[in-house]
Amino acid sequence: MARCATYERLDPGRVRANLDRVREEIAAACVRAGRDPEEVEILVATKYVAPAAMAALAEAGVSLVGENRAQDLREKHALYGDRFTWDFIGHLQSNKVRQVLPVVRMVHSINSISTVAEINRRARQPADVLLQVNIGKEAGKYGIIPSEVDRFLEEAARYPKVNFSGLMTMPPLVADPEAVRPIFAALRGLASELSRKWRDTWQFRQLSMGTSNDYVIAAEEGATIVRLGGVLFG
Ligand SMILES: *Cc1c(COP(=O)(O)O)cnc(C)c1O
Repeated sequence: MARCATYERLDPGRVRANLDRVREEIAAACVRAGRDPEEVEILVATKYVAPAAMAALAEAGVSLVGENRAQDLREKHALYGDRFTWDFIGHLQSNKVRQVLPVVRMVHSINSISTVAEINRRARQPADVLLQVNIGKEAGKYGIIPSEVDRFLEEAARYPKVNFSGLMTMPPLVADPEAVRPIFAALRGLASELSRKWRDTWQFRQLSMGTSNDYVIAAEEGATIVRLGGVLFG
C-alpha cells in the first residue's frame, strides 16, 4: 500500500466535529435500515497519523484505532497503551503475529492459514479475528475469494484458539459509493450463510466494512465496524 503524506499534527476540535457529523450520518443510516445505531463502532484508521498526532485523537474522544503495520502498532502502543483500544487491519504476516497479538483486541484481516496457525500457537486465550474476504474478486487484492471461503474455514477449524467472529472486506475505490452497496450486501449474506453452516463453532456477527468513501452505505447494509481515516482528519 502506498504511503501517503502523514498527518504530523491534528486539531482535536476539528476531529471531534468530524466525528460528531459522521456519528449523526451513521445514526440516520441505521434508522433508515431499521438498525440500532449502537451496533456500529467507529474505528479510526491511523496508518497516516504520526505517533505524536495520536494524542489529538484521544483528546477528540477517539477510543478505537486500527493500524496496518506491526512496527507502527508497536511504536504507537508503547506511547499510548490503554488510551486506545487497538485493532489490526493490515495484511498480517505470520512472522509479525508475535508482536501484534498481545496488544490488539482483534485482527480484522486474516487471509492466510499460516497466520491462523501462528495465532493459534501464540495465543494465551482465544483470539478474536475476522476473515478478510475479497468479495468483489478483484485481482491483486488481499482476501479469500468467496468460492474458497469454505475450504479456508475447514482448515482454520483445526486451530481452536482462533475465534472467527465475523468478516471484513476492503471495498473497491469507486466514484459513486452506491456502486459498492452490492459488495456490502454480499458480505452480509455470506456472513449469515457461514453463521448457519458453522453454528457449532463460530458466529459471524461482525461485519467490518465501509471506509471514508462509503460508510453511510456500509451502515445501511449492516456494518458493525466502519474503518475511517480521511473523513475524520480533514
Ligand atoms: C486506511 C484504511 C481504511 C480507511 O481508509 P479512508 O479512506 O482513509 O477512510 C480502512 N480500512 C483499511 C484496511 C485501511 O488500510
